[in-house]
Amino acid sequence: MIFANQALIATGWAKNVRLSCAEGRISEISTDQSPKDGDTRVDVLLPALANLHSHSFQRAMAGMTEYRKAGKDSFWTWRDLMYRFTKHLTPEQIEAIASLVFMEMQEAGYASVGEFHYIHHQPDGTPYDDIGELSGRIAAAAADTGIGLTHLPVLYTYGGAGKAPLEAGQARFGNSVDRFNELTARARGIVGALSQDCQVGIAPHSLRATSPDDMAAVLQAHQRGPIHIHIAEQPKEVADISDWLGARPVEWLLANAEVNANWCLIHATHMTGAETRNMAQSGAVAGLCPITEANLGDGPFNGPDYLAHGGAFGVGSDSNILISLTEELRTLEYSQRLRDIARNIMVVGDGSVGETLYCGAAKGGAQALNRGTGQIVQGALADLVAIDSSDPALCALQLHQLLDGICFAGRDRVVTDVWSAGRHAVQGGRHIKRDQIIANYRSAMQSLMSTL
Ligand code: ZN
Repeated sequence: MIFANQALIATGWAKNVRLSCAEGRISEISTDQSPKDGDTRVDVLLPALANLHSHSFQRAMAGMTEYRKAGKDSFWTWRDLMYRFTKHLTPEQIEAIASLVFMEMQEAGYASVGEFHYIHHQPDGTPYDDIGELSGRIAAAAADTGIGLTHLPVLYTYGGAGKAPLEAGQARFGNSVDRFNELTARARGIVGALSQDCQVGIAPHSLRATSPDDMAAVLQAHQRGPIHIHIAEQPKEVADISDWLGARPVEWLLANAEVNANWCLIHATHMTGAETRNMAQSGAVAGLCPITEANLGDGPFNGPDYLAHGGAFGVGSDSNILISLTEELRTLEYSQRLRDIARNIMVVGDGSVGETLYCGAAKGGAQALNRGTGQIVQGALADLVAIDSSDPALCALQLHQLLDGICFAGRDRVVTDVWSAGRHAVQGGRHIKRDQIIANYRSAMQSLMSTL
């Protein structure tokens, strides 16, 4: 049983809450209780967010691409470096990095992750003996850390818009539709051995790395599970897709696929007003990755229009340059303020920006990862985070200001405990396997750096 001094349950703030979990789900919630012997006591209990978009391996190159060279660095030069880096990664290193990343996510307050997984093969593009070798490494990292995994094998067939052939740096990503279906079937078997909340979806990488026919075939073959796709991240991508398919990326996707609440459109940065409105009304989740989008110079999301039309959203740490839930949420709002030269943008009408960001991302993230949670209610998966409201950043705030404090004044150190589907992975602010995971990561980095 968990006893919380205060908890944000589905009906609002409640005091002295006792909560029990069974088989990963919240089985009972009672308010105005007294703590009992044996209860895990926490201060403030919140629904924990899903981190809906991650490429875990990219964490290992954080800080390596922030040096300006002659000419103008861009998203595309960053991508070149990422390709050189991926050539050397071994399965063991991929697992060690993913464990570190998942642990950092849980310590930041995330209970689950959507791992958008696109390194499938050996460096020359030959599949491993087990085609699901690297999916298995991601699953092993999820099992090690206890995070809730929605594994998203990526269909990546072309090197650019118009069915351009893969470049050498993309050899590890490539699959035909048939091989992708084989890979995904294997991934379902691997992830099926994890806890019940873990699952597999699919991820056509982007319109530029697939083709309309291939995408239709894959959507036909996989009619269950979440569908994630990168879309409209960069102006060049919008121009390339418009030239090739005769419509802007979001416009094309909405007209040519049955985009609904199973979909998560990652970034969706460059949209017209009509695209923004139509995407909001499709029921899909916008997968926003504000820190990465700032780091890569993508641009700000069209937040006010999207929210005004009822659009669902969640957040992801994408490149994992920095894993911080509080920073992710405030960067989203700050990107809007800097563009609009105004304050308090990501809220419709009057209200708390922090609450809109936090609760919106909790619900949207849960939807995008198909986790049946996002609020504290009986029957929901027990994805929970506990916060210490006596932290200096929060101690002067009233309850209705607490989410604003967490989003704008807090650091991730306010997190004391995290449960992923009831698995109590973070206790006292530390992941229970922290020392071992960090030691494995350091040793993996040592071997990787010696080969670069
Ligand atoms: Zn991404």
